Amino acid sequence: MKKKYSIFSLVKNSLSDNQNWKKMWRNPDPRKFYDVIIVGGGGHGLGTAYYLAKEHGLKNIAVIEKGWLGGGNTGRNTTIIRSNYLWDESAHLYEHSLKLWENLSSELNYNIMFSQRGVLNLAHNEHDVKEIRRRVSANKLNGIDSEWVDPHQIKKLVPIMNTENCRYPVLGASYQPRAGVARHDAVAWGYAMRADELGVDIIQNCEVKKIRTAKGKVQGVETSKGFIRSNRVGVVASGHTSVLAATAGIKLPLQSKALQALVSEPIKPVINTVVMSNAVHAYVSQSDKGELVIGAGTDGYNSYTQRGGYNIIEDTIRAIVELYPIFGKMKMLRQWGGIVDITPDASPILSKCEVEGLYFNCGWGTGGFKATPGSANVFAHTIAKNKPHKINAPFSVDRFVSGRLVDEHGAAAVAH
Ligand SMILES: Cc1cc2nc3c(=O)[nH]c(=O)nc-3n(C[C@H](O)[C@H](O)[C@H](O)COP(=O)(O)OP(=O)(O)OC[C@H]3O[C@@H](n4cnc5c(N)ncnc54)[C@H](O)[C@@H]3O)c2cc1C
Repeated sequence: MKKKYSIFSLVKNSLSDNQNWKKMWRNPDPRKFYDVIIVGGGGHGLGTAYYLAKEHGLKNIAVIEKGWLGGGNTGRNTTIIRSNYLWDESAHLYEHSLKLWENLSSELNYNIMFSQRGVLNLAHNEHDVKEIRRRVSANKLNGIDSEWVDPHQIKKLVPIMNTENCRYPVLGASYQPRAGVARHDAVAWGYAMRADELGVDIIQNCEVKKIRTAKGKVQGVETSKGFIRSNRVGVVASGHTSVLAATAGIKLPLQSKALQALVSEPIKPVINTVVMSNAVHAYVSQSDKGELVIGAGTDGYNSYTQRGGYNIIEDTIRAIVELYPIFGKMKMLRQWGGIVDITPDASPILSKCEVEGLYFNCGWGTGGFKATPGSANVFAHTIAKNKPHKINAPFSVDRFVSGRLVDEHGAAAVAH
């Protein structure tokens, strides 16, 4: 690895006022032809390029990004990472990812600030209790560290939580201790830096306008910087995937909706785990800077506005204040939205399609950040071998024809 981060490089660069750090990646002009083009410079796209180069020996790869790296949902999410999904197919995919997270800082020699502080998923009614207990049992069968905790144990973990005097009292929760959070943009930067070192061209400010196909095969992409030829194109464009797919004549079962998040002013540490509630649509963690990172639900209608409706954040704040009365006087600093791509079964699509050489990695909805390394890893395999890895075989787009759905509406967290 060319750029090594260590205590020595930190000291050396601090002595020169941090003016001599090398650029983390090049800024090349696009070539006329690439062996593989990845559309979308978020974590999943950059990770795919990295694993294609590192594990499959492909070198002539481009990542094409219409804006800046991580400027999509990778840099907009609330960074919750966990693997406690219900079905075996999902458990294998998200656990594969969690295992890669556990070594990612060291693999990239870049601190992605992965913090395994645990995640609680609250149950507020009898249905939640049955559903979450069932999920805990299923997790255990898949070797995932998941346990049921009662309100007494929850109070020990989060003393500031109001579990009783509220409209939806807290009846228990699932707890995954290995779950946690990571610094989202560092994930994009770390993958970008190491992919660049392996020869991947990262081309920012370049929009893919159309995927060109002929006789059932992909030919390349028409971009704002001209046509770029390739026989293999992987689309990893989250909320804009269906728009790109349509340019190749493909209709994917996706809906694009705004999902919002907000952060508060910074305060001293008060909550040292992540708490999620599907029923009241609110989840919260505290960043290393002290801000509360709060996530809301999706809008009830499709859009590409990257903002979201006020009623959604009002509901979320109401739920947060009821669950944590001490947050009632806090000020919120920022609010933003991202466009998430939602499938009918709340599971992703990692798949080839009817056009030869065209692959899709999408449909992560409200919960794809946690899957970044695992998804990128198996998607690279799918593109390199032209067939799915055994982990992503169940997530083919064909499942919407065969009916072999992977219904994860319960575990997908922000119900949609
Ligand atoms: C508010 C919010 C909170 C969330 N919280 C969580 C969470 O706590 N945990 C979790 O696991 N997930 C969460 N998610 C979901 C998660 O952010 C996404 O599933 C994940 O980041 C998707 O990564 P990606 O690399 O596929 O997409 P992105 O990071 O969106 O990357 C796609 C890229 O494609 C580019 N692009 C689009 N169209 C084109 C084009 N025509 N040409 C070139 N480039 C193009 C975009 O600019 C973008 O940079 C949240 C999402 C939001 C919005």
